[in-house]
Amino acid sequence: MSSYKAWFQCINEKCSEKYPLNTVIYRCKSCESLLEVRHDMQALAHRSAKAWMKLFEERYKSTQWPYGSGIWGKKEWVLPQIHNDNIVSLYEGGSNLFWAERFGKLIGVDNLWLKLCGNSHSGSFKDLGMTVLVSQVKQMISEGVPIQAVACASTGDTSAALAVYCAAAGIPSIVLLPKGKISIAQLVQPIANGALVLSLDTDFDGCMRVVQEITKDETIYLANSMNSLRIEGQKTVGIEIVQQFDWEVPDVIVIPGGNLGNVSALGSGLLMMRDLGLITKLPRIVVAQAERANPLYRSYLRNFESFEPMEARKTLASAIQIGNPVSIEKAIRTLKQFDGIVMDATESELADAAALGDTTGMFNCPHTGVALAAMIKLIKAGKIDRSEHVVVISTAHGLKFTDFKVQYHEEKLGFPSNYANKPIELPPTVSAVKKALEQALQKRRTING
Ligand SMILES: *Cc1c(COP(=O)(O)O)cnc(C)c1O
Ligand SMILES: [Zn+2]
Repeated sequence: MSSYKAWFQCINEKCSEKYPLNTVIYRCKSCESLLEVRHDMQALAHRSAKAWMKLFEERYKSTQWPYGSGIWGKKEWVLPQIHNDNIVSLYEGGSNLFWAERFGKLIGVDNLWLKLCGNSHSGSFKDLGMTVLVSQVKQMISEGVPIQAVACASTGDTSAALAVYCAAAGIPSIVLLPKGKISIAQLVQPIANGALVLSLDTDFDGCMRVVQEITKDETIYLANSMNSLRIEGQKTVGIEIVQQFDWEVPDVIVIPGGNLGNVSALGSGLLMMRDLGLITKLPRIVVAQAERANPLYRSYLRNFESFEPMEARKTLASAIQIGNPVSIEKAIRTLKQFDGIVMDATESELADAAALGDTTGMFNCPHTGVALAAMIKLIKAGKIDRSEHVVVISTAHGLKFTDFKVQYHEEKLGFPSNYANKPIELPPTVSAVKKALEQALQKRRTING
């Protein structure tokens, strides 16, 4: 096990400084660029692609702790030097991937699948990265590194994941949230898990600025995705999708993007599979952004020749309301490697797409709505073909965003809700109910022809 090695490395190729994983560091000391975790690929290549696939399959969802976790079943590729005693796992990963047959047919793709990363302990994909980060912190504390607490700025889901993993490990957590800009469900999660919750009268980018200052004190460890340990866990999502398809690579993967750590992670896992011979082709990656927070889309329109941060405007897709994404360079690099496309979606497009999906048996969060809307636009534009095998990454559970859904169906979002389904209020009598049923069923017969 310990023959495998990983370290932090500066992403700037002219610099490439290396640092051990147990250093408290988020940016390169020489050039300030972000870091990424790099692995000793030669050591990993001693095991054949077939043998890796067999090992991953044997462990997948088993009860052999910690290897049944979707992350720790791939431990050698993620964090090879961690002691199992220090692993903080809530059995993350292994989320369901289903054929969205009815929805696909409605919008014009036959082979559409949804990867439900929100079906996870804290209700979003953020668990995938947080298990890795908090495990590494536990190991550092056990080695005597003086860490008092772990802190993050969050649009909601990062703080929920950080708080719950820290609670499981018995490590104090601190979360900085933009006041009034996250859902009640997301706010109550870190509160319930005993985090120190700081609600700041600013937006996410404002919280991010403050937390970067606070964590200059090295005893407070930073858990945002500029810390590349998060990316190491999140990178398993692409590997897991391919494994779930019996090692067949889909044609297109659509993912919503805000701070852009997750798209970089998706790319990184797939490249590792290719480099170790598990796959020979790569999918195209589509990043979907809310039109009100679309700096990556704007840069894409300029062929990535320039990038300008923007002030993100309020969007229903609150977890991606980010105007100055920290992982922009990594994301552009990924998109160039994966023949990438970026598309955006307006508020009404994202809300209708989420709701239309729900009518076919999904239960979408608004960010998944952004991904679905972007995909619909790309199908219409002929950039995704009917016959292609498409996977949409659903990033959070719809139950975290009930306010959004209630307001949509009550038609209170300030634009037409094209798929609103309002409850009918009636007196509690059989005759009133019968009459309402007749009318409703009549209407349905007319619609269905
Ligand atoms: C964090 C988050 C995203 C965006 O991920 P990035 O890595 O910031 O691009 C999308 N959807 C949900 C639900 C999230 O919590
Ligand atoms: Zn550097």
